[in-house]
Amino acid sequence: MKQINFHLALYPDTFLWINEQKGIFYNTREYSTFLFDITNLIKNYCTQLLDVHNLYVISINEKEYQCQELAIWIQKICLHNVGFFIKHQYETPSPISFPPLLNLQSDIDRIEAAEDRDVGEYAAQNWNEFSIYLGGESKFPNLHKQIPYPVDDSSILPFYDLQAFLSSSDNSYLNTINIIGNPFSYPYKAELMDLLYSIPVKKNFYLTASTACRFIKEIQQIDLPNYELYIYYEQEEASIHHILTEKQIPFHWIYLISSEKQYEDLEKLETKYGNEYVEVHPIYTGDNLPFFEENVYLAEEDILQSNYDKQDIFAHQVMNTNFWGRLSVLPDGKVYSNLNHPPLGTLKDRVYDLIVDEMTSKRAWRWIRDEVSPCKDCLFRYLCPSPSNYELVIGKPNLCHVKP
Ligand code: SF4
Repeated sequence: MKQINFHLALYPDTFLWINEQKGIFYNTREYSTFLFDITNLIKNYCTQLLDVHNLYVISINEKEYQCQELAIWIQKICLHNVGFFIKHQYETPSPISFPPLLNLQSDIDRIEAAEDRDVGEYAAQNWNEFSIYLGGESKFPNLHKQIPYPVDDSSILPFYDLQAFLSSSDNSYLNTINIIGNPFSYPYKAELMDLLYSIPVKKNFYLTASTACRFIKEIQQIDLPNYELYIYYEQEEASIHHILTEKQIPFHWIYLISSEKQYEDLEKLETKYGNEYVEVHPIYTGDNLPFFEENVYLAEEDILQSNYDKQDIFAHQVMNTNFWGRLSVLPDGKVYSNLNHPPLGTLKDRVYDLIVDEMTSKRAWRWIRDEVSPCKDCLFRYLCPSPSNYELVIGKPNLCHVKP
């Protein structure tokens, strides 16, 4: 009688994470998840699957396969399209697969381990967004700690330091500059516009509606390439929306939402102009936690419906996708990787040094769920969005109902 072999293989797009009680498979091609209980028998097979030497293919013991618990687990693996099971005769070669492994992780680790290299060498290539906060008045003076919003600061951003900072050799991967605040209150507006004109990256201007009206003429006069306006919606949209669409100026309304009462108003705006023109930002006011719990916090069902691809999961394993590659400068010339933390330095520092400081501190770019309790012990830590400013402003490490 010919010998029959049983093999279980996971697809290369499938991730497997386990803890002492539960395990989860997540397939990044199908966006399918399979959450299961851990028993001794299942744990043993999961451990084998997670051993990279097995390349995601393991033999199933024929006797153990008779156990209903294991057979159902395997059936569900197939049903959820996270792997496949085959019975075959011994002459047939076993199937081949490969676990999703992260090269970026090993790059960072390798650079950190090497005596003559440092993480800045790697990170300088990843500085891709710079936010410039102009001084002036702000309707919500602390909102810049949650979302891009003008700061309340009478300092005058030192233009020549900014110019030197942006001319640094470490800026070759920069692809976006955000200018936040009223350019008309900045004494070096003309110089700033010339500088922006000379830098071939996308420019986003964050403005109030009244400032936007004046600014449109300015932008059109200098024929600034590759820009977009982000305008804070304050009920006065009709005339300006018409002007912007007529002149084919790329723009978005930023709708700040802090309570459920605003949904009706938001819906009207979206219906009138189309969702594509409206970007919604929840804002924490200090007394609207129930709104966040109801509308922003994730429940287990939300997490199990994730549709992250393989690169997203890799990103969650090593970088904070909200902050990675981003630096900001406030009007006093101080440079930050996160406006809720102390500055990294000033515009007078070398970009390279600031990035090395940031990369080693892990305060923003590498602030991932592995660094945060209770997320670091949670099965869903790579399926959840990276920690954000909302966590910092609310003062809670996780915005979910899984581990409240
Ligand atoms: S505890 Fe953290 S990792 Fe777990 S579900 Fe909540 S936010 Fe996500």
